[in-house]
Amino acid sequence: MKIAVLGAGVSGLTAARRLKAKGYDVTVYEREGKAGGLAKSRIVDGYVYDPHGGHIFNSKNQDIVDWVFSLLPKENWQFHVRNAKILFGDKYISYPFELSLCELEPDDALDCTYDFLMAQQGEEPNNYRDWLIWNFGAGIAQRYMLPYNRKIWAYPLEEMETKWMQGKMPLPTKREMLRSVLLKDPSERKMPHSTFYYPTYGGIQTMIDRIAQGLDLRLGDPVTSIQRAEKRWLINGEEAFDAVISTIPLPELSRAMELPCEINRTIADLKYNSLTTVLCSCPQTDISWLYIPDKRYKTHRIGYQSALTPAAAPEGTGSGAFEIIGERFDVDRKILSKQDVVPDALNLHEVIDWEFTQYAYVIHDKNYRVNTKKVFDYFDAVPSFHLLGRFSTWNYKNMDMCMQDAFEVAARFE
Ligand SMILES: Cc1cc2nc3c(=O)[nH]c(=O)nc-3n(C[C@H](O)[C@H](O)[C@H](O)COP(=O)(O)OP(=O)(O)OC[C@H]3O[C@@H](n4cnc5c(N)ncnc54)[C@H](O)[C@@H]3O)c2cc1C
Repeated sequence: MKIAVLGAGVSGLTAARRLKAKGYDVTVYEREGKAGGLAKSRIVDGYVYDPHGGHIFNSKNQDIVDWVFSLLPKENWQFHVRNAKILFGDKYISYPFELSLCELEPDDALDCTYDFLMAQQGEEPNNYRDWLIWNFGAGIAQRYMLPYNRKIWAYPLEEMETKWMQGKMPLPTKREMLRSVLLKDPSERKMPHSTFYYPTYGGIQTMIDRIAQGLDLRLGDPVTSIQRAEKRWLINGEEAFDAVISTIPLPELSRAMELPCEINRTIADLKYNSLTTVLCSCPQTDISWLYIPDKRYKTHRIGYQSALTPAAAPEGTGSGAFEIIGERFDVDRKILSKQDVVPDALNLHEVIDWEFTQYAYVIHDKNYRVNTKKVFDYFDAVPSFHLLGRFSTWNYKNMDMCMQDAFEVAARFE
């Protein structure tokens, strides 16, 4: 049986590897000249970075952890306990904000704590803006949650739904929060990504290259046409396959495949945002991420790549990549002297490299559930055709979830 996998990101590579191990004849088509998709790395002037955002690995699923370490053994990784901070005014507050109120000025801490204890009264709102206030109280919402979320989504929060963030955003109980304020004790900060791994050398690409080893990869070979012919799938009008696993973003798929107008329209109505990442040299730090809610600055986050592994920057220097959501950001040296991009005090002056990511985050707008259901119901009925991956299943999924889904898709083939 011949299987075509469309896209050589984490999802496509994992599925292809699992299927190849079962003895299937698998071909992976990839538009770019390099495998990895969003989880790529690049080396520029001795600096190693992930141009689509720093990619750390962790998983609650032991099968996934074991599989990854079987390909790239543990001694090749740096283990980290997350050290994320929030730049609040000119102070560094520990992440998450709501469990670090004891680090605020007393008046701010009092307002935030009081409002949090009074929060969650009445009916739970179904739009994200009101939900943030309802859930965290006005003190935390106005100081941190609302300004930060306005930047990271660049989409009206009142037009977003609320169910998507379960498990993604740390949601402490009132007891945990009070405990952290009274005892100044961070031990309740057990959240997704509180510990993680990052490859010592070569960035996250090192993991990708291990997954890709031995696969039939068609790099630089974009899929432009997918047709059904005699119970098989014809890719680019050339080669026929018994089954297709598509991991390419749905809007790209709708360009390559003839779909009903209604499905094309629905796909066009799915919302996402884009991202520019700018790598700079900077002073060394042990902060893994710095969140910047302050609306005066365009960036919402800096990922300190050199805090993930000492091999990420030439000896004696550090590196940080700041991220800006929205249209492609026109990066040249001048932007860094402008005050509205990134706080000057962080010393991110020397630009080393930058990259634009068209498909960065799925946005859960009000039509999300109706639209995705319509699209997935349609594809469920398409024979021998499987959707897999972040922008193919239009979901906020990290690498480990993509791997888990790829395991499940591969298990459908017996
Ligand atoms: C800023 C940011 C930070 C992140 N940080 C983390 C993190 O720290 N840890 C973590 O686990 N996850 C992280 N993620 C999520 C992670 O990137 C994704 O879960 C994962 O990389 C998605 O893999 P994928 O294979 O599903 O999709 P993609 O990586 O998008 O792969 C799709 C592939 O399809 C290719 N393609 C597109 N069109 C065509 C075509 N027509 N023909 C052929 N090929 C095509 C693309 O080039 C790409 O290679 C982050 C994501 C972002 C945006």
